[in-house]
Amino acid sequence: MQCSSPDCPAAPVYSFLWPWGEAGACCAAHQVHMRQKADQLERGSLHFTLLDPQKPVALARDERTQLIAARMSAEEEMRIVQARAAELHKENSDLAAECRRLRARDVETKAQLKDREADVARALKERDEALANVGEAQAEVRRLTPLTFRREPETSRFTPPNR
Ligand SMILES: [Zn+2]
Repeated sequence: MQCSSPDCPAAPVYSFLWPWGEAGACCAAHQVHMRQKADQLERGSLHFTLLDPQKPVALARDERTQLIAARMSAEEEMRIVQARAAELHKENSDLAAECRRLRARDVETKAQLKDREADVARALKERDEALANVGEAQAEVRRLTPLTFRREPETSRFTPPNR
C-alpha cells in the first residue's frame, strides 16, 4: 500500500476520511499537506486515523518538523517579499509625488520668469520715459534760462540836476 498522493513513494501512516465520504491513506508528510488543504477548503474537518498505533512515528514526526520548517521558511520569505513590494510601492509613490512636485515647480518657475521679464520690460520702458522727460526738461531749462536772467531795461535812472 502506498500514500494516495500521486507519485509519493512513502508508506501510508494515516488513513483519512473527508466529510463527504472520500477516504484513503497517506504518509506523514502528506497528512500535514492534506490538513492544510482541508483548513483552506473550509468544507468540514478531514479526519485522520493512525493506521498502526504500534508503529513508531519518529521519522514521520521528523518529516513533519521538516515540512513545518520549510513552510515557516516559505512564509518568512513571503513576508520579506511582501515587505519589499510594499517598500517598492512606497518608493514609487514617493517618486511620483516628487515628479508632480518638480513639474509644478517648473510651471511656477516659468511663470515667475515671465513675471520677471515683464518687470524688466516695464522698468526699461519707465527708464526710457524718464530719459525722455529729462530731455524735455533740459530743453525747457535752456529755453527759460535766457528769459529769467535777462536784465530789466534801465528806464528811470536818477540823473542829478545841473548846477
Ligand atoms: Zn505521501
